[in-house]
Amino acid sequence: MSTTSPTKPGGPPRIVDPQTIDALTAVINGTVLTPSTDGYETARRVWNGMIDKHPALIVRCSGRSDVVHAVRFARQHDLLISIRGGAHSAAGHGTCDGGIVIDLSPMKGVRVDPRSKIAHAQAGLTWSEFDAETQVFGLATTGGTVSNTGISGLTLGGGLGWLMGKHGLTCDNVLSFDIVNAEGDVITASPESHPDLYWALRGGGGNFGIVTSFEFQLHEISQVIGGSIVYPMSAARDMLRFYRDIAADPPDELEINAGLSTTPDGDPVCALMLGYNGDIAHGEDLIRPLREFGNPLLDSARPRSYGARQHLMDEMVPYGPRRYWKSGLVREITDDLIDVLVDRGSRLISPLTRVPMFNFHGAAARVDPGDTAFVHRAHQWDLGIVSQWLDPAEDDRQVAWTREFWSELEPFAGNIVYINHVAGDEPDRVRTAFGDNFERLRQIKAKYDPTNAFRLNHNIPVS
Ligand SMILES: Cc1cc2nc3c(=O)[nH]c(=O)nc-3n(C[C@H](O)[C@H](O)[C@H](O)COP(=O)(O)OP(=O)(O)OC[C@H]3O[C@@H](n4cnc5c(N)ncnc54)[C@H](O)[C@@H]3O)c2cc1C
Repeated sequence: MSTTSPTKPGGPPRIVDPQTIDALTAVINGTVLTPSTDGYETARRVWNGMIDKHPALIVRCSGRSDVVHAVRFARQHDLLISIRGGAHSAAGHGTCDGGIVIDLSPMKGVRVDPRSKIAHAQAGLTWSEFDAETQVFGLATTGGTVSNTGISGLTLGGGLGWLMGKHGLTCDNVLSFDIVNAEGDVITASPESHPDLYWALRGGGGNFGIVTSFEFQLHEISQVIGGSIVYPMSAARDMLRFYRDIAADPPDELEINAGLSTTPDGDPVCALMLGYNGDIAHGEDLIRPLREFGNPLLDSARPRSYGARQHLMDEMVPYGPRRYWKSGLVREITDDLIDVLVDRGSRLISPLTRVPMFNFHGAAARVDPGDTAFVHRAHQWDLGIVSQWLDPAEDDRQVAWTREFWSELEPFAGNIVYINHVAGDEPDRVRTAFGDNFERLRQIKAKYDPTNAFRLNHNIPVS
């Protein structure tokens, strides 16, 4: 059976004939899947259940040579390229209709050197898999807050997580990248080798090539405090004002995030999601006022292993439900913003929907905005609406509700957004996501990917 690929949006489909696919299969050590192969149906799916696409080919790469062959094949046959790490792109960039998915998820090697505290990690790892290997030595680097997110997409966009106050964003901890460029050549990006690319890969997303491995700086961390303090929605207004004061200037070791959601019994609630990365007794002292505020419904904040804390939020955003996501970076939590949050949070239309606010501070905020591609270096909150539901018949209603809610929140964010949280229908926000770094990124994109072969992403246009 031949498979087809639209070369460009609206362009004529390109036929990939069986002999050509056989030739690719012969050089790939991993697996090449087509719509007629076992495993294709599972492999085409991604985290967001709203995304239902049918690629012509899925190349499940077992190593760097597979990535090289896949890129050269895609270029030779003018196929639309989708890069997939952990498949968590809410916009669904990890798959496509009619093109080739270069799936790195089988590439899970990690080598940790406990003396230099450096990890070399292949691009298909999730944070859970990465953490398991580094925690053997009591080491970690800033990783995502949900353990099955891929290390690749998260790191390339910046990387917000429980260690960012103390150790910066994930991208701030990358020492070098191995990357397959648009020609299918292997290069290393580091302060010494292709420094312009090294700069762009720390926040510029998947625009410049396919990263096959990362060299991460690790830090000693094993026992931490983690957990949530949950309040009824009736206490939300007072709690968020109190939270605002505590989160105004937190020590680097303290992570205090807030969020709105619904209990399994259907009651709207407001929660503080806490982390402390330092002396446990000192951390307990710092969070005591939060515990003593009002009458919490639940308090699960306690000492845990770092690895256990990395799983605490997994159940809130499971694989599979349908999603629509809106987000922005907010510099100040005003009374008016709290009023909007409490009003909407009291009447969420899906019990699965979450409204998280991640406090961005400390080491992550102290980096100069021009030092890496991630430009938004300030004390702020990453505020999002993660709408989630199960019934496809609800799609229009849920999306409309999210847009309406966002229209009320957007004035507080001033259109500033984290690139990894840009929605699939917001290409006009890519420029603001990169702010003053956009023009430099555009020049680097033009140098390393002049024909925009890697365009299925939050795309930096070449011209
Ligand atoms: C449940 C959930 C929790 C999240 N939590 C956080 C969080 O705590 N902190 C945070 O900062 N972000 C978070 N995010 C956002 C996350 O950073 C992005 O969705 C990110 O793109 C996911 O990376 P991935 O590899 O899993 O995704 P994929 O869908 O596999 O990839 C997304 C895109 O990243 C690029 N990409 C992926 N791998 C490569 C590669 N090897 N080389 C080049 N480009 C590549 C491609 O453009 C690709 O389309 C979360 C997302 C979800 C869905």
